[in-house]
Amino acid sequence: MSTKVWLVGAGPGDPDLLTLKAVKALAQADVVLVDDLVNPQVLSHCPNARIIHTGKRGGCRTSTPQDFIQRMMLLYAKQGLNVVRLKGGDPCIFGRAGEEAQWLADNGIASEIVNGITSGLAAATNCGISLTHRGVASSVTLVTAHAEDGSMPDLAGLAQQGGTVVVYMGIARLSRIAQQLRDGGLRADLPVAMIGNATLPDQYQIISTLATMEDDAKRAALKSPAILVFGDVVGKQISGTAFASEYRYAQS
Ligand code: SAH
Repeated sequence: MSTKVWLVGAGPGDPDLLTLKAVKALAQADVVLVDDLVNPQVLSHCPNARIIHTGKRGGCRTSTPQDFIQRMMLLYAKQGLNVVRLKGGDPCIFGRAGEEAQWLADNGIASEIVNGITSGLAAATNCGISLTHRGVASSVTLVTAHAEDGSMPDLAGLAQQGGTVVVYMGIARLSRIAQQLRDGGLRADLPVAMIGNATLPDQYQIISTLATMEDDAKRAALKSPAILVFGDVVGKQISGTAFASEYRYAQS
């Protein structure tokens, strides 16, 4: 029997932001390996599947090591079961889908990747920020603050180019990020949005500046998961679209 593993994006949190393709893949799943940050409500689409949580937040005390997850996918797929690997946001944006799909292929199992809405895009949209804005920003960079080798990406270089910079996994390194951008010559009043629990009922946003972002984040008790958006598009926040509870601090 030909088996295929589905690597599916669960979207940023709001279960209504799932794709129809994701819902169909879940409906026919026998086994679902669920990553951190997937909203448990999404699992209502696979009531009969065996659910295996692989992330700390999903109920495991520790994250399941990557090679063990991969071997589980392979094991179930070889038994002829329909396997879905469910990941937060989009599986190909800081989601390791590329390496998992390649590993499966190397082991003779085909896979299909189903896009999800990535949290960086949804977070901005859900608080009224358009990541590109005619005349303000004509590019967007999605970047992680948490490179594999522990180094920091050149955020200052990216931000200097004038496009919008969307940072994932940045909360533990907030001070270093702010410092690097200031040292890189970015202006103190560069607008910054920090958006936590994006698209969930407890989404919150902190609108700040490069100069004040650390204090503002502390005051609002910013926690992971959160997205940081740097750029003038933050200053163009569209009124009347914010769903989130809002912490707006002085921009001066
Ligand atoms: N594949 C995921 C990203 C995984 S990396 C995606 O496409 O969204 C994990 C990081 O994503 C977190 O540290 C945080 O920066 C961001 N993130 C995921 N879900 C989020 C949410 N609901 N609100 C804010 N940030 C989120």
